[in-house]
Amino acid sequence: MITILIGAPGSGKGTQSSLLCERFGFTHLSTGDIFRAEMAAKSDIGHKAAEYVNSGKLVPDAVVTEMVAGKLDDPQGRYLLDGFPRNLAQAQALSGLLAQRKAAVDLVLFLDLTPEEAMKRLTSRRICPCGEVFNVLSRPPQTEGKCDKCGKDLVQREDDSEGTARKRLMVYEDLTRPLVAYYKAEGVLQEVDGGSSPETVASALAEIVAPQLGAR
Ligand code: AMP
Repeated sequence: MITILIGAPGSGKGTQSSLLCERFGFTHLSTGDIFRAEMAAKSDIGHKAAEYVNSGKLVPDAVVTEMVAGKLDDPQGRYLLDGFPRNLAQAQALSGLLAQRKAAVDLVLFLDLTPEEAMKRLTSRRICPCGEVFNVLSRPPQTEGKCDKCGKDLVQREDDSEGTARKRLMVYEDLTRPLVAYYKAEGVLQEVDGGSSPETVASALAEIVAPQLGAR
């Protein structure tokens, strides 16, 4: 089963993916997380991706698509794609890839959020190298600048700085948002208000996902 999570940067895709994976046993495939891990490991893909990721641009389609194809290796797998596809060419490449395996996109979950709210969330986000995510406005750590879980110093993602965040939101509006209409036309899109609290969004998503899994 292939489920896609679409939403602006900052719409809560990472948080909601973790909850969905925990609850429904999806294999999480976040292209942004994979690129960040490859960059930290200074691998070939990491080197190729760094200049794009750090400036808020999309990594070339061929690099991303090949990487995702390599990860979708279990034909019976229950995958949650987060951050892919990011434009029409990637959506078409994904359809082609799945068609070869006699599969298709089953469900697209769209987290709708205004660009203003997305901008506010991105620039106030702080992360810990251990993977915990905080927000100085909505989820501040107990001790300023320190992770609640491991005590390490929190940092701002380089691409969450104001200029790069703005660029990423423009790329989202221009290239990724058109996928909402694309998947609506395919009859697989379900929309949730991404401006609600994480708990409310999580229950709305669970209500959509549970019946789909039950039907399989
Ligand atoms: P994210 O964590 O999803 O916001 O992704 C961070 C960055 O990784 C993006 O700004 C892009 O530079 C790159 N990236 C992630 N997913 C893709 C994708 N599907 N296509 C191209 N670039 C991507």
